[in-house]
Amino acid sequence: MQEAAAPRISFVSLGCPKALVDSERIITRLRAEGYELARKHDGADVVIVNTCGFLDSAKQEAALLTAKRKIAEVDAAMLAAACTGKKTSLKAALSDQRVVAGLGNIYVCEALHRALLSPKRIASTIASKSGAPNERAERLVGSIKAVLNDAIEAGGSSLRDHRQTNGELGYFQHSFQVYDREGETCKTPGCGGIVRRFTQNGRSTFWCPKCQK
Ligand SMILES: [Zn+2]
Repeated sequence: MQEAAAPRISFVSLGCPKALVDSERIITRLRAEGYELARKHDGADVVIVNTCGFLDSAKQEAALLTAKRKIAEVDAAMLAAACTGKKTSLKAALSDQRVVAGLGNIYVCEALHRALLSPKRIASTIASKSGAPNERAERLVGSIKAVLNDAIEAGGSSLRDHRQTNGELGYFQHSFQVYDREGETCKTPGCGGIVRRFTQNGRSTFWCPKCQK
């Protein structure tokens, strides 16, 4: 039987000189154990971030790297697989932290709105019976990535906020398209609908019944 290939590891070292010395030791050890170290994160199966808690700049950079890595990992096949055969709502399926880790309530609302998909839609309708992603899953993946990227850009400073412990990547209130906009006009070009709010699985869902189908 052939042995499974060892995961390709990308190593990032941040922080003080002590962390750098530790990193050198770990890298030497990994190489000795036969692991292949990738130069770029994109080609790696695992990204290890060695950082320290003393330097704010190191903390920020580690948070940013982790957030970017999460975004890169989201794809249509993964979303479809998580929704196949699920009779729950699409909102509930996306809120499951096992599907897209760190995708908080705000981001789920924003991503569904951007993808023009209803939060009430049955989750399994973004996949074929065999679990392959359909056009809706493709649209949703693009929206999730766009929303998270916007959050990183807009919330660059709040990524550094230690008080933020709710799992959201950062604040980007000023660019909300639907969240917290109950009764206001939908921002989808040409829609003109009114944003509504309702409670879904104990959380507030904001959506536009006119353009989100
Ligand atoms: Zn609308």
